[in-house]
Amino acid sequence: MKLIAAYIRRHAGMFFTAVFFLAIETAADLFQPAMMSYVVDNGVKNQDVGQIFRYGALMLLIAAFGAVGAVMRNICASYTSQTVGRELRMDLYEKVQSLSFENIDRLQPSSIVTRITNDVTQIQRFVNGSMRIMLKAPVTCLGAVCLVVCKTPDQIPMLIVILVISGGLILANMKIGYRKYGILQQKLDQLNKVSREFLFGIRVVKAFRAEKQEEAAFDHAAGEFADAGVAAARTGAFFAPLINLTVNLGIVALLWMSAIQPPEHIGSLMASVNYMTQILFSLARVSGIMNAAVRASASAGRVREILEEHPVQENGKEKFTWGQVAFEEVSFTYAGTSRPALEHISFQADPGETIGIIGPTGAGKSTLVQLIPRFYDATSGVIRIGGKDIKQMDAEDLRSQISLVPQKALLFSGTIEENIRWGRETASFEEVREAGKSAWADDFIMGFPMQYETVLGQGGVNVSGGQKQRISIARGLLRRPGILILDDCTSALDAATEAGVLEEIRRLPGNRTVFLISQRISTVMRADRILCMEDGEIKGIGTHKELLQSCSGYQAIYYSQIGDRAKEERRE
Ligand code: ATP
Repeated sequence: MKLIAAYIRRHAGMFFTAVFFLAIETAADLFQPAMMSYVVDNGVKNQDVGQIFRYGALMLLIAAFGAVGAVMRNICASYTSQTVGRELRMDLYEKVQSLSFENIDRLQPSSIVTRITNDVTQIQRFVNGSMRIMLKAPVTCLGAVCLVVCKTPDQIPMLIVILVISGGLILANMKIGYRKYGILQQKLDQLNKVSREFLFGIRVVKAFRAEKQEEAAFDHAAGEFADAGVAAARTGAFFAPLINLTVNLGIVALLWMSAIQPPEHIGSLMASVNYMTQILFSLARVSGIMNAAVRASASAGRVREILEEHPVQENGKEKFTWGQVAFEEVSFTYAGTSRPALEHISFQADPGETIGIIGPTGAGKSTLVQLIPRFYDATSGVIRIGGKDIKQMDAEDLRSQISLVPQKALLFSGTIEENIRWGRETASFEEVREAGKSAWADDFIMGFPMQYETVLGQGGVNVSGGQKQRISIARGLLRRPGILILDDCTSALDAATEAGVLEEIRRLPGNRTVFLISQRISTVMRADRILCMEDGEIKGIGTHKELLQSCSGYQAIYYSQIGDRAKEERRE
């Protein structure tokens, strides 16, 4: 709740304006029964029509004030809750951007999506509700209690019984509800995860005719979400009628007592019943908003978890010089796994050098390069750039000098130009085109009717795999990085195009260090030196020729790809 209060505090002005209008509305509500009691006990009893009309008009006027108060209060409440929601989402979004892959793996992307969308919506609902009802209900309740106490003190014992029982029921409802709403949000995470996986892999699902399995997984997640929803709603459904019943029994007891001992003024009895009804509604509303509070508090806890997540440690904004990339006895184990993905990695890449990385699938190639921009931090050992431990560098500065073109080209909805420009927002169109040319993408882009203005669907659905990879490489080049990492991102290109792209990258000005991961020996052969990896370890390091002589793993890959013909040629 502290988190919600902190965000509401930023809009204290609007919040208190809402409270002001709420006070007008509440006062109008509380005045009406008192006026009515006066009209009945004086105007009606004495058959004074003039007085009835005068007070009737006054009651109308008060009702009009109340209505204006309600409208204004609603406007203020909506503005504040929407603004709080937007600010919370923006803060979450910015925070997520600063997190490392390690943080994101731990929090899980589907859960992050639920927290940014649904959890914030729960908080928004509560903020809105609290300004509309939360304040009004207790104030009305308190006002009504005071009036009952002043006007009919003999009803105090019964009032205490009603308030104690109802208060106890509201607390029990909150205590049980909190856990259930927490579970409900977790089930929503799970449902989002299944939907996300299905949508991302829809082509594969269709290709392998795995719709039935996916349907079963979705059905299971949707079923669990529905069950959790029913369980949470059942708590409210159990307690709300009990609270209503308590207050209604109080009203029945009040009327019953008046039948035994008729009151002197019938108007006072009417006012008392009216106030009891107001107490009933207020308690029912308090119980409702407490449900929302419980749900919002569970959601706020989940939102806070992201906001309080510690991103990779960032130390100062110090600049550093680019040079070699050195791994010194680096080992790494993913969180939640026991087997190291990398073990005792030591090598040095010199400025301007191209380092090829090859090895069987799962060898640790991608993991190794992801440690350079600190997407993950090494479990042990040190990585230095220009002689400096990267853990001592500012993560933002470090990443601004590194382009990592991932295995799977990630394109966003928007034009091709916008997608490439992600590499460097300030680049001119000429620079975007230059990057396109270097990535051998310019020709096919200029072949589209809208050229660089061609709009890509989400994930780049309207371009081929090879075209996506070239757009993604162009984005990486546009940044003009000091370190360029190409993580198997030329796999969908034919051999000639791949050779052309790599040649262009070599020719680019600047003394950049390039890491070139590939499963294809023909690709890494072009590198200055090659790391041959297996089971998270470096099995060999050297030029193509050196490895062919000394590294059995490299020889095995070479002969399996180039074939026995090459083996014979070598023997000759
Ligand atoms: P490929 O050529 O198939 O891309 P790779 O050589 O790049 O493989 P990595 O992706 O680095 O291999 O994976 C190395 C090991 O780490 C594998 O055993 C993999 O299962 C594991 N691994 C990779 N990513 C994660 C992760 N996010 N969480 C846990 N384990 C992971």
